[in-house]
Order: sequence, then structure tokens, then C-alpha cells
Amino acid sequence: MLLSSFHKARGDEVVFTRSPYRQMDEPEYDAVYGSAIFDYSADRVARLAVEFPGAIIGGTGSGKENGKRLVEHIVGGHRDLDYSLYPGFEASIGFSQRGCRFKCAFCVVPGKEGAPVATGTIADIWRGPGHKRWIHLLDNDVFGQPKPAWKARLRELREGDFRVCFNQGINIRVVTDEIAEELATVQYRDDGFKVRRLYTAWDNIGDEALFFRGVDRLERAGIPARHLMAYMLVGFDPEETWERIHHRFERMVERGIRPYPMVYDRRRLDLKQFQRWAARGLYRAVPWSKYDPGAKAKNKPGPGQQAFDFSSDLSTAA
Ligand code: SF4
Repeated sequence: MLLSSFHKARGDEVVFTRSPYRQMDEPEYDAVYGSAIFDYSADRVARLAVEFPGAIIGGTGSGKENGKRLVEHIVGGHRDLDYSLYPGFEASIGFSQRGCRFKCAFCVVPGKEGAPVATGTIADIWRGPGHKRWIHLLDNDVFGQPKPAWKARLRELREGDFRVCFNQGINIRVVTDEIAEELATVQYRDDGFKVRRLYTAWDNIGDEALFFRGVDRLERAGIPARHLMAYMLVGFDPEETWERIHHRFERMVERGIRPYPMVYDRRRLDLKQFQRWAARGLYRAVPWSKYDPGAKAKNKPGPGQQAFDFSSDLSTAA
């Protein structure tokens, strides 16, 4: 979106595609850019490089240069985004900070972005009058930026009557009473900007006490546990057992939290099936021990049971 806006401001024509293949009728372009977030896109990255020799490819999954630095090198101080690439997207998207205080072994953020720094305001991110007052924040550690900065961002959200989606999650392990009270004053929403939702994570079984201390603090401040969706990393810890996975899952469900398994090892079909069972709310109808991923009818809710479809979250978080 940044590159497109930059080029259009120079009078260039921009073609946007998700395909790495060159179409029969495509002209020679003056510049081709590609981005890839995940390692499992390696085949598509390689294909793009073959189809468009000289393409500039970045992103964490490209195996190449840091995409953010690469783009900034190209666009200089240009900051506008070309939202026309995503005509159905009504929110405004961006970062108020970069970086993270933590160094989780499975995560690329600390290496990519370093220690937290404040980078912008809600006013910088919002598209302005005529657009929804919906802010989709991509911050990985919103409360990691200096306190005056995060307080100012929450004040902007509150006073501007914005809805906000903390899509990358808040770090519940370090939620203080003050943070919980401030969070309770803003209109946090899911990524569709409809239901009350705060995203967070419980990735490591050893963080149980810290996780629930954060849940308790949020509840005391007026944020019920049922507003929480917690990503739970599975398939990373070599010590992980199914017993441990179910422990995390069940402890969250008991509190009314919606667990969302994130599968680290994409080769693990059993974990992908577990993700589907959990994320779609099928656990409310069928115990994991009786879940048959191949038999749709068997997994239907019985009388008085309700399954929830979180498939929109699935596509966002996958
Ligand atoms: S807290 Fe989140 S963003 Fe920070 S290192 Fe851990 S997983 Fe990454």
C-alpha cells in the first residue's frame, strides 16, 4: 500500500496481484515488488523471482532483506497508503509503535524491529473525515512504548470515539492495573469491528500464573474474560504433550476465554485439526477425543449445544 501510493504520487501506473506468475498479456514493468510474510511461501518467492527477474522481494518470509527497511529506502519519507488496493477494507491501518520488549524464541519481531519505539499517532493512522472511525493497530507491543506515548494514543482513541482492534494482541503477562483501567475505557473490537474483543496470547505453559494474573487485572478493571481471545502456540515446545496442550486449552475455556491455537509446525496435521476444532468452536459440541475431522455430520452440535464459527478469525490469523 505504501509502495503503491508512492508510485502513484509520481504519476506511475500500479498493478497489484497476489499471483507470482506472469500472465500472458502482461507488459514489461519498470519495477516489480514482492513481499512474503511466512517461510512457507518460499516456493512462491522463488517462482516470482523466475517470472520477474530483477523483482525486489522483501518480508520475513522472503529470506532476503528486511522488508520494512527495504521499503523505507525506496519511498523515503512518503507515508500515505493506497487503500484502493483493498476496496472492501473500511478501517484505517497502521502502527503507533514498533518493536517488542520480549524475545520469544519463536518470534521474528525482536530481530526485525528491536526494542519498542513510538512511531506515530492515531491521527496519523486515521484516513480522516468520511471514513469509519475504526483503527486497526498492528503494534506488537503497544504498551512497550514509553508510558506518555501509549497514554496519549489511548486518549486519542477515547476522545476521538474510535473503535480499535489490537490485532497483534496485548501482552497480558505485563498488564498492570493502570493499563487494564485505561484499556477498559476504549472501544476495543474484533477485526471485523463488531464484537468486543481483546486479543492476547498464552504460548508457554510456564506462564500460567502471569497469564491469569493479567486476566484477573482486566476483569477487575471491567473487561470480562469472555472478551478475550487468546492465541496459544502449539507445535513449538519440544517438551509439549497433548496433556499440556489440553491443560492450557481447558483452563482458558473454564474462564470463558476463547483459545485460538496457532500451529508452529505446519507439517503437524493433528495440530491443524486441533486448531480447526478449537477455532471453530466445535469443542462446545464434540470433545476432542470424539472429534472426527473427516465426518462433518458427526461433529454437528446436539440439542442445546452451540458451535461458533470463528472462520473469519482463522483467515486473519493464519
Ligand atoms: S511478546 Fe509477541 S511480539 Fe514480542 S517477542 Fe513475544 S511473540 Fe514476539
